[in-house]
Amino acid sequence: MNDALDEYGLIGHPVAHSWSPFIHGVFARQTGQAMTYRLHDVPAEQFEAYVLDFAARGGRGLNVTVPHKMAAARLARELTPRAQRAGAVNTLSFMGERLLGDNTDGAGLVRDLRDNLDVTVTRRRILICGAGGAARGAIGPLLELDPVEIVIAGRSLERARALAADFAPLGPVLGCALDDLLLGHFDIVINATSASLTGAVPAIPATVIESAALCYDMAYARGATAFVTWAREQGCPRAVQGWGMLIEQAAEAFELWRGIRPDTGPVRRLLLTA
Ligand code: NDP
Repeated sequence: MNDALDEYGLIGHPVAHSWSPFIHGVFARQTGQAMTYRLHDVPAEQFEAYVLDFAARGGRGLNVTVPHKMAAARLARELTPRAQRAGAVNTLSFMGERLLGDNTDGAGLVRDLRDNLDVTVTRRRILICGAGGAARGAIGPLLELDPVEIVIAGRSLERARALAADFAPLGPVLGCALDDLLLGHFDIVINATSASLTGAVPAIPATVIESAALCYDMAYARGATAFVTWAREQGCPRAVQGWGMLIEQAAEAFELWRGIRPDTGPVRRLLLTA
């Protein structure tokens, strides 16, 4: 470990494609923080030992990505309420004996929707495609904004229903299969599947986005993602990919670690114009 600089990083498998070192580097320079942020490519079977060793050697925090988010929730000794609800951790903080797990994905999505894109969630009908970790992180923060209803549509009906049941005590959430979607129209359609990563689009009927003011792909790429391209082809007036969510979830983690909130505007302008 570097004595002068506090060490942070991203742990996942794979991680080489990640923009997180760039984003946290911009935040650190902007806020004058003496820290480093590196990538840690670690397979699932080595995750726990690696994290504990990183913490024992003085590491201060790790972002966590695929496939370790659930394992990080099991490893953390304390969970924030939003991480507990999500059952997944994307941010670990090491403070002496404390090993705190948080989940900043949903807050990042909400900040991007509300503050950057000026999208109203309150009293809107929302469709989330996909029932994996990112969907799980997003539902609680979205429900806090009082939508009329959130429908979770998954390839697996059982998984979508189980996810909806977990959040039903917090608000109106329904689970259904992707091809059940003839049941209505939505104001906001969020793609929380990993389909875009392979150039695919979840098999939802185009009718569900006929009245959507926004289609949002959590995935992000240098060009338009498959879902953004598809939504535009269907005539959606606004189709956006998840760069803003990526930057905002990073800002939440940075604030948790350093106690100072970075201005996300400069890094957003850099990444969105690049
Ligand atoms: P998971 O692997 O936990 O979940 C992926 C989900 O996508 C599963 O429900 C899976 O279905 C579904 N899925 C995969 N392929 C298809 C397909 N072709 N059609 C329909 N459903 C499909 O991944 P995450 O939830 O962690 O990530 C989901 C997406 O969100 C990824 O693209 C990721 O990059 C993005 N993400 C973006 C973030 C950001 O900051 N912008 C933060 C976190 C995630 P099944 O359950 O049947 O396997």
